[in-house]
Amino acid sequence: MSAIRRNGDAVDGERLLDTFFKLVAIDSPTGHEEAIGAELKRRFTEAGCNVTMDEHGNIIATYPGDRDDTLLLSFHMDTAGTDVGITPQIRDGVIYSDGTTILGADDKSGLSQVLELLHLLNEHKWPHPNLEIVVTVGEEQGLNGSRALDKSKLKAKWGLVFDAAGGVGAITYWAPTSVFMTITVHGKKVHAGVEPEKGINAIKVAAEAIANMPLGRIDEETVANIGTIEGGEARNIVPGEVHMVGMARSHDQSKLDAQIAVMKKAFEDAAAKYGARVDFEAEEKYRTYKIDPSERPYREATRALESLGIEVIHRKSGGGTDGNVFNNAGIRCVAMCTGMVDEHATTEHISIEDLVTAAKVLVTVVTQEQEA
Ligand SMILES: [Zn+2]
Repeated sequence: MSAIRRNGDAVDGERLLDTFFKLVAIDSPTGHEEAIGAELKRRFTEAGCNVTMDEHGNIIATYPGDRDDTLLLSFHMDTAGTDVGITPQIRDGVIYSDGTTILGADDKSGLSQVLELLHLLNEHKWPHPNLEIVVTVGEEQGLNGSRALDKSKLKAKWGLVFDAAGGVGAITYWAPTSVFMTITVHGKKVHAGVEPEKGINAIKVAAEAIANMPLGRIDEETVANIGTIEGGEARNIVPGEVHMVGMARSHDQSKLDAQIAVMKKAFEDAAAKYGARVDFEAEEKYRTYKIDPSERPYREATRALESLGIEVIHRKSGGGTDGNVFNNAGIRCVAMCTGMVDEHATTEHISIEDLVTAAKVLVTVVTQEQEA
């Protein structure tokens, strides 16, 4: 075997591409992860991992290292939405879907990269920490798999989440808290033609509440939205009920709490004005995290990128990953890019070069010399 100057250069682009295409060909929308789970279990076992699948379908694959240290590597197996039958195509070195579906590079690019890492570790026997590879289900519907996972079984104290989009050099060190809201306005349903004065129009109450609350971009850290509204029964019935769902996110927990309180109060005020009643439920889907540059995952990721000559981009993200859940369970993580772009859209794509470069980053960060 010829000498390899840097471990990352050993990445076999053809093998990586082949793995990526095979994973993308397996339908895996959220809630339908059986086939991809079975395939990943087979592949991780074949690569020498000890593989367990929990009752939710999450996979934990451990790969023994030769250091007294355990590193968490995080991925998810489900794809966003309901698209199936994904048929990838390559145009000018970039992989796209056929334009009718997502590509599923989110997160199958990351999964193909970790499988390539395992190939290389088996071939080259480079020193590396023990690996805890966690592949979750249900990530796209609110980090369901990682939230349900028994994190107390994990040994790692630090980790890397290969599930971010955009330029390969980005390190996501700060992510927001996200809260999902479910709201019902209860008015009073009556015949609109015969006795409207006896009714309470739930649509009017909801409309007034929404018109009176701040939505959209609230400040640099905070966003809020009412995303759906449905209710009423017929043209000649004063509507008795309206259902809405919304969300708010912020990198600042106190600003988020304030925003949710304002939204709740707007509903309560409108309801009080018309004699209606409101159920307002706010469920935290994931909580903010912020990793300091001096912390282990941030330092190791920076060192790996720099050693490959990749410019480091320090990124504050607008969305969450399983990293939010792991961070809040005490496993300090940053999120890394896999090369994917436009995830969740029919224009989702990944260049072969970025797929390979992100694999090099993964190989490097896992096998680079341990810090003193
Ligand atoms: Zn993802």
